[in-house]
Amino acid sequence: MTVYSGPVFDMAARQFGVIADYLEIPHDERDRLLLPKRAITVSCPIHRDDGSVAVFEGYRVQHHLTLGPTKGGTRFAPSVDLGEVAALAVWMSWKCALVGLPYGGAKGGVCVDPMSVSKRELQSLSRRYMQEMIPFVGPHTDVMAPDMGTNEQVMAWFMDTYSMYQGQTVTEIVTGKPVSSGGTLGRREATGRGVAHLARRVLADLGIDLNGATVVVQGFGNVGSQAALELHRCGLKVIAVADHTGALHDPAGLDIPALVKHAATRGSIAGYSSQLQFDPAEVLTLPCDVLVPAAMERVIDADVAARLRCRVLAEGANGPTVPEADRVLDRRQDEVFVIPDVLCNAGGVVVSYFEWVQDLQQLFWEEDEVMRREYQILDRAFEAMVARARRDNVSHRTAAMAIGVEKVRAAKTTRGLFP
Ligand code: GLU
Repeated sequence: MTVYSGPVFDMAARQFGVIADYLEIPHDERDRLLLPKRAITVSCPIHRDDGSVAVFEGYRVQHHLTLGPTKGGTRFAPSVDLGEVAALAVWMSWKCALVGLPYGGAKGGVCVDPMSVSKRELQSLSRRYMQEMIPFVGPHTDVMAPDMGTNEQVMAWFMDTYSMYQGQTVTEIVTGKPVSSGGTLGRREATGRGVAHLARRVLADLGIDLNGATVVVQGFGNVGSQAALELHRCGLKVIAVADHTGALHDPAGLDIPALVKHAATRGSIAGYSSQLQFDPAEVLTLPCDVLVPAAMERVIDADVAARLRCRVLAEGANGPTVPEADRVLDRRQDEVFVIPDVLCNAGGVVVSYFEWVQDLQQLFWEEDEVMRREYQILDRAFEAMVARARRDNVSHRTAAMAIGVEKVRAAKTTRGLFP
């Protein structure tokens, strides 16, 4: 038992156990790699619009600081608790190391349903959360970014709050900001584009014609909608989309640009079409070429894994597949090609890194430069993962996470224990 114990952290710990066994990491070294360096819990009081005071719990977990600052998103969702945030921080570490970024993993969150607060209340909460975090974050300590329930606007409020306390503008304190406030071109699209890039690459390798290949997307926030848009733009047919309000299914292919526009103004896919409504519970197991889970963690359990009918599982979300499902997918390797989360959604943090570098240098790049470098990094990590999986006859997830764990371990070993 640790303070982080709970279903999500236990999942991250079990995944790490698989990797540690495969890498034959001695048992007395494992806690040093897995347990977060530090965790901060804060209470964030705000004035509600009706004059009352409400208090929201917030967290930030910094997993390790061995390779540089920690990096990771901040989530606003009712599910947020310390264990979930810690698991997400651990996954960020393996992700950043796999793609070669000079960061440890972090994650933060506030337990709130962002749809239940007004825009003014959201601003107060965002500013108060950042204010509470000021002693623990910094451009060379911990750099936040968007995650589920937060966006560019929230990052702008974070940046502004931190900057007002410093007495100067510190754009490099967060990434995923609006381009007008020191953000980079291509960050908003980065995660979805990365998912789409890797999915297209795998389809091509499998000899599946991209034109008319079918796609199902679960989750229609930033990652799901941008992945759907990019795949649609490349000639694939997005036949189903689900979010927290329901699902839509059209075997002829949904009009993704129209749906994205609808979701941007209405906050969800609800109300888009009554004819195309579909059972959200059926979405993950629809036959398709590419399945993109881009919502919550732990949506693919052993039962769903056995019933998946996709050729490529492109994990846009963090932690969508539980370890029991991995064991099923290990047996189905010839049927379902898994692009694991730590690689598949890494485009987001890769372009966050570019944003941080550009802010530190005050030298800004063209969007095609951002995209070219993003894809180059993802391709390199993809090739390393596939080669490792083949060499050692392990799953893609084990290979990808092992590459990340190995890099963190090597840095810890060579730096040694202080004092
Ligand atoms: N929240 C995103 C993730 O889970 C992005 C993190 C970042 O850009 O720092 O990868």
